[in-house]
Amino acid sequence: MPCMCRARPGQPRLATQALGGHGGGGMSRLLVVEDDPDIALALRLLFSRAGYEVAQAGDGRTGLKEAYAEHPDLVVLDVGLPEMDGWQVLERLRDVSDVPVLVLTAHGQEAEKVRGLRGGADDYLTKPFANNELLARVEALLRRSSSGQNSWASQVYDDGLVHLDPTKRRVYVKGDEKRLTPTEFRLLNALVRHAGAVLSPNQLLTQAWDDPTGIGQERVKFAVLRLRRKLGWSDPDESPIESVRGFGYRYRRPGGES
Ligand code: CA
Repeated sequence: MPCMCRARPGQPRLATQALGGHGGGGMSRLLVVEDDPDIALALRLLFSRAGYEVAQAGDGRTGLKEAYAEHPDLVVLDVGLPEMDGWQVLERLRDVSDVPVLVLTAHGQEAEKVRGLRGGADDYLTKPFANNELLARVEALLRRSSSGQNSWASQVYDDGLVHLDPTKRRVYVKGDEKRLTPTEFRLLNALVRHAGAVLSPNQLLTQAWDDPTGIGQERVKFAVLRLRRKLGWSDPDESPIESVRGFGYRYRRPGGES
């Protein structure tokens, strides 16, 4: 089920990192992103008693950081989170990984299920849930994903022109390191990961800003201009980041057709 389209065969992973599939030997590592301390504690106990290694984060931003750094085998993600909500976390996770994600929604948010599944969640559960049910779903997801392929293999983006490493937060253009702000970094990340596709200013807002509410599309325009300048792509005719009038922006891979 996980999409292999972003897998990069040129990026072998260390065998020691392949911990997937519990029961066989290595413990599966779960990341729980949940802001309610009681639920977080309950989940931690539940999962560690079931034999998983558990890491935790209490807000979206920390969760994302933890995921980038630790490459968990599965993420249990609450939707209602401070700083950055679960949907944003999911979207950014999906830019770099096919790791299975089980979304937890609060009672009354069932309508969000579709949004979650469309956004790349593998499963979802509504609170309050039965412990056994949660464990069963986690096990099922891990079983499905542990067929040997690596969910995090596609992390580093490299097309010969741009080299982007989300874990280290580094960007190189033709080998020269570029200093970007976190927003610029995410903007570039979103563009290169969707190379060839036009992203609307609204899509870029959700992908690159922690809190896009109240931010106008002008902000995106100026951020793109600044990003181009920093990358040495100021000339709009030469820039791999194109503006598509009335639609948005598109990154063109070197040598790729439009
Ligand atoms: Ca919450």
